[in-house]
Amino acid sequence: MDPVVLDAMLPFLREHFANPSASYRSARKVQGGIQAAREQVANLIGAGPEEIVFTSCGTEADNAAIASARMCRPELRHLVIGATEHSAVIEPARRWEQEGGTVTRVPVDRDGLIDLEALRQAVRPGETALVSIMWANNETGVIAPIGEIAQIAHEAGALIHTDAVQAVGRLSIDLHALPIDCLSLSGHKMHAPKGIGALFVSRRMRFLPSLLGGGQEQGRRSGTENVPGIVALGKAAELMIPAHNNRIAALRDGFEARLLSALPGLTVNGGGAPRVSGTSSLCFPGLSAAEMLILLDERGVCCSAGSACHTADVHPSHVLEAMGFDAGHASSTLRFSFSRMNTVQEAQEAAGHVLAVARRLQAMRGMDGGPVVVS
Ligand code: PLP
Repeated sequence: MDPVVLDAMLPFLREHFANPSASYRSARKVQGGIQAAREQVANLIGAGPEEIVFTSCGTEADNAAIASARMCRPELRHLVIGATEHSAVIEPARRWEQEGGTVTRVPVDRDGLIDLEALRQAVRPGETALVSIMWANNETGVIAPIGEIAQIAHEAGALIHTDAVQAVGRLSIDLHALPIDCLSLSGHKMHAPKGIGALFVSRRMRFLPSLLGGGQEQGRRSGTENVPGIVALGKAAELMIPAHNNRIAALRDGFEARLLSALPGLTVNGGGAPRVSGTSSLCFPGLSAAEMLILLDERGVCCSAGSACHTADVHPSHVLEAMGFDAGHASSTLRFSFSRMNTVQEAQEAAGHVLAVARRLQAMRGMDGGPVVVS
């Protein structure tokens, strides 16, 4: 969390604790906090404040967008999603199928870019209710051409939702100029706390809520508001300045450049496509990402593997699989993220640790002088 964000939310835990739905005077300050946050979030994405619905997280926003399309357009039984979506879209799509609908998953190329021709083939006028394709991928950072995707969806009469959890604040977004119907975002990707998110719902669009009750959020998401979280999300949105992204990209690029020059076999997943500033997904051929993770953790480097390990079960990343890579590639992939709170020194130190760990594992495997050489 950004300390400025924490400072902004604390008064809404300590002093301004009234329920925003109450009519007494102390509730007004709380209502004002929510309204200000709604404007701050709207400003970040070029939307109107009345188009912002606060949710408990990005997952809820994704679920709500898909559920609304299903409820508003019951006669249209077809859903289109991308092959590399987050599970917050994959699982609602599975539910869509279980409830009798059909789902098409649009493939991506070797760089993780959505196949626009396949998308054109997938959307079916009079059948497709919704196209849900993520703006930026959470594993590789690869950016989708969302304007073209939205146009293709609309030409077929489908609505377009985009999971922009990884894109908001990292790309300039102007929803006044883009035909997007619904967009999801999440606080903890923007230096706000975990457990707060928002769904943009275009004023052009009909929306039916998933949560019914007291009618908060203009009836679009009932439940007493998480006011400190909302205020924090608003402040965080105000602090997401596009200029930061150039510096973050420079950190990431410097980190990658150091590793690429020292490890000739290293590859950047999605490296041939445009990527958001802070994400780096790297494949270290011949090395085990699971072993690297343990050694890097000991050195204080926090990163993730290209495979999700659930107890004894190891699933290769569905994102890398969709990009055409095999399980071996996924099991040699590590993911790193950088933010505006990282320094050049940290990025270079992290690269030094990664090199040292790679060198150690290569020596253990007798890989010195093999296909991957650490200089
Ligand atoms: N979508 C993407 C692309 C994400 O990266 C994440 C979180 O990592 C989510 C959705 C879910 O957001 P939340 O953790 O706020 O539920």
